[in-house]
Amino acid sequence: MALSQEQRDALNTYVRERMKTLRCPLCGNNVFKGYGVLKIEVGDLEPSGVTWDATTMPFAAMVCTVCGNTLFIHLGKPGAGLTE
Ligand SMILES: [Zn+2]
Repeated sequence: MALSQEQRDALNTYVRERMKTLRCPLCGNNVFKGYGVLKIEVGDLEPSGVTWDATTMPFAAMVCTVCGNTLFIHLGKPGAGLTE
């Protein structure tokens, strides 16, 4: 999934407004770099491997520039509200 330039700008604004005081929980750094967007299937996983009531959720990966710890920002609602 690729974000349009308008969506990238909106995501950057969303993250900057909310990450002002955020520190990486592993190393204390406060600089994160945005990487690609990924979709994760979320649902109830049965022991057989079948997933029920699954939905796909879009996230942006924000990576700590010191230790690589990664935060995932939900792009839908509630969240950044950039996708349905
Ligand atoms: Zn870190």
